[in-house]
Amino acid sequence: MYWTNYHNHCHYCDGKASVKEHVMAAIDQQVASLGFTCHCPVPFQNQWSMPTGQIQAYLDEIDEARRMFADRIEIYKSLEIDYIPNIIAPNDRLIQAAGLDYTLGSVHFVGSFHDGTPWEIDGPHQQFLAGLQTIYRGDIRHVISEYFRLTRQMVREACPDVIGHLDKIKMQNRGLWDENADWYHKAWYHTLEEIKNSGAIVEVNTRGIYKKLSPEPYPGRAILHEMKKMGIPVQINSDAHRPEEITGRFSEVCELLLSIGIEKVKVLHKSEWISADLDKNGLKM
Ligand SMILES: [Zn+2]
Ligand SMILES: [Zn+2]
Repeated sequence: MYWTNYHNHCHYCDGKASVKEHVMAAIDQQVASLGFTCHCPVPFQNQWSMPTGQIQAYLDEIDEARRMFADRIEIYKSLEIDYIPNIIAPNDRLIQAAGLDYTLGSVHFVGSFHDGTPWEIDGPHQQFLAGLQTIYRGDIRHVISEYFRLTRQMVREACPDVIGHLDKIKMQNRGLWDENADWYHKAWYHTLEEIKNSGAIVEVNTRGIYKKLSPEPYPGRAILHEMKKMGIPVQINSDAHRPEEITGRFSEVCELLLSIGIEKVKVLHKSEWISADLDKNGLKM
């Protein structure tokens, strides 16, 4: 049995450890294939993105680790790229020029404040409530619709190889909306239809579980059920920001996927996406 993980942050962005520390911890945790995805630089101030100008050093350090650990683990270069229309997208020239092994695209921003600062929807809850009131006058339904509309737009116009934490906005749902409501179901269902046509992989992201922000992965059981019906490919990632998080909650998510009938995940092997068989203790050799 082995694991893979294609969503990891090291200290070039808001991750807490070096590339090498991540690689060594991954090997200890039976990870056979590991991808680095620091937050891509963005042209505005925030607490977590890689500073502009650091990309080459980041890629060089991953290349060095790849050579150093070549006989023990496969290592891949990527970035978690924001999708903010007219500001940044997974198909930007800067991204294409970086020579990444794959792209991971995520929506972290919905709308912007009056001064043009994009509103971060996965930060502290108080900050979420501030944007909800200031930008959307408390209309949560409008915010959610925008969030999924942006995801669809990213898939249509700048489709990444992997779609990050599809329903992460639910981490803010502390009684703000009913996840069984018809309008909510439609918002994500339309998004799945768009993804299905694109061929992109949807990650099953465990970070919300081990950070105690969500009892389910992103996306949760209801969405995974529909993904199974539509044949949308998945992979298990942890969105680790610390070495000890690399395989965080992987076993229980494996069991969840198997209980839904999802028995294969996409993994990188010799730089090609292939399907691997899931077992409750990991991926089968
Ligand atoms: Zn993210
Ligand atoms: Zn991330």
